[in-house]
Amino acid sequence: MDGFFTISEAKAMFEKGEISPAELASKVAEKIDKVEGKVKAFVNTYCDEMLDKAKGLKEPKTPLWGLPIAVKDNICIKGKETTCSSKILKGFIPPYDATVAERLSAAGYLLVGKTNLDEFAMGSSTENSGLFTTHNPWDLSRVPGGSSGGSAAAVAAGECVAAVGSDTGGSIRQPASFCGVVGLKPTYGRVSRFGLVAFASSLDQIGPITRTAYDAAYLLSVIGGHDPRDSTSAKVEPFSFENAVKEGVKGLVVGIPKEYFSEGLDPEVKEKVEGAISQLEDLGVRVEEISLPHSPYGVATYYLVATAEASSNLARYDGVKYGYRAEGVKDLMEMYLETRSKGFGDEVKRRIMLGTYALSSGYYDAYYLKAQKVRTLIKRDFDKAFETCDAIVTPTSPTPAFKIGEKMDDPLTMYLSDIYTISVNLAGIPAVSIPCGFSSDNLPIGLQIIGRPFDEETILRLAHNYQMVTDHHTKIPPCGGE
Ligand code: GLN
Repeated sequence: MDGFFTISEAKAMFEKGEISPAELASKVAEKIDKVEGKVKAFVNTYCDEMLDKAKGLKEPKTPLWGLPIAVKDNICIKGKETTCSSKILKGFIPPYDATVAERLSAAGYLLVGKTNLDEFAMGSSTENSGLFTTHNPWDLSRVPGGSSGGSAAAVAAGECVAAVGSDTGGSIRQPASFCGVVGLKPTYGRVSRFGLVAFASSLDQIGPITRTAYDAAYLLSVIGGHDPRDSTSAKVEPFSFENAVKEGVKGLVVGIPKEYFSEGLDPEVKEKVEGAISQLEDLGVRVEEISLPHSPYGVATYYLVATAEASSNLARYDGVKYGYRAEGVKDLMEMYLETRSKGFGDEVKRRIMLGTYALSSGYYDAYYLKAQKVRTLIKRDFDKAFETCDAIVTPTSPTPAFKIGEKMDDPLTMYLSDIYTISVNLAGIPAVSIPCGFSSDNLPIGLQIIGRPFDEETILRLAHNYQMVTDHHTKIPPCGGE
């Protein structure tokens, strides 16, 4: 299993002296040499720096001591270019670390590189990246999902032991499901967003992408926790890694929302997800049918709230403060217009226009305000379900990974690939995607487990117990195997 390590395996091998951080870093660098030309997961890699740092590592062993980890390129790392895969930010070097980057550093991680995404995290396939498209290691003609497609593909191909991504409407879970890895969107407020480039501030959340639920729990315990520099960061009990992975799941009640198993769901996805539900039952979980009646409005609500917030957040890219500035212009106004016209890609412009429209005088009540009200109804559906259930289980995405180019001419069908993940962000609750089988084309299929606010423990416990009795997460993609 050259280059394929989980966090826990690597730590155990360090402990026994079977491998050194320098040897592990070399294996990861070799893997990148072999597969990165095909997968294209990274905007920038820092292999030489990683190797140098690994060689110089001494005791004491901090939680991520010597572990090569990749970071999505919308999270600021001091002194390292942060592009958000947008031409408008090309060359932008942050003068500070995001809190997550600071915590990873303090824990002793090794930065492998910054991973590709849909421009400003707007998309579901990395095809909206202003730089290039990432390829799915399971089938290079297919998308890795998005927007954290680079992070998910890098983990799947063995180009790092784990990664961090961000999730506004599914951007950690959907690519994790397409690439056969684990992706956790924590509760809104669990992980600081200080230094995450804002897309839709009431929805954005940073989380881990790993090979196992155990590793996701471990990484969350490092990056989570209150941060006074993020006013939305919650002052809650710290996440308990031990509770997440040590206990069994007997007696837990899991809800199956009937709305998630209807029209549009690929039959193979349905079959594998139902199979996983039976396996959970075998572990002693009680399964109950539930209803989330407002879920059909999730996508429409999201595309009003997210675009409205994006139109405001992206106003700062005007050529004055960051990255790209148009040249040869006659005055300030032309500089603004040219910079934004040339710097932003089509999808970003589409969303700025939609969001500006939804917020504009005369339309605000009909669109933005209405969407906020529906958002409350969606949240209440979950509150009601959690009166009787400890967790909710659904497919992560209605289909396995689609072909590159397949949905690019039709934004609406692209938006629908997040139909099962979006409501979770609107409600601010946690959810994890784990591999639960493969399609007849050997493409990974993801199972989503949704939890109560700040109850990452229960969903990770379910995920971990499931992975103890299944082996889908141990499979190696054809490209990663070279
Ligand atoms: N695919 C969704 C979108 O295009 C979600 C993106 C995300 O979670 N960042 O907005």
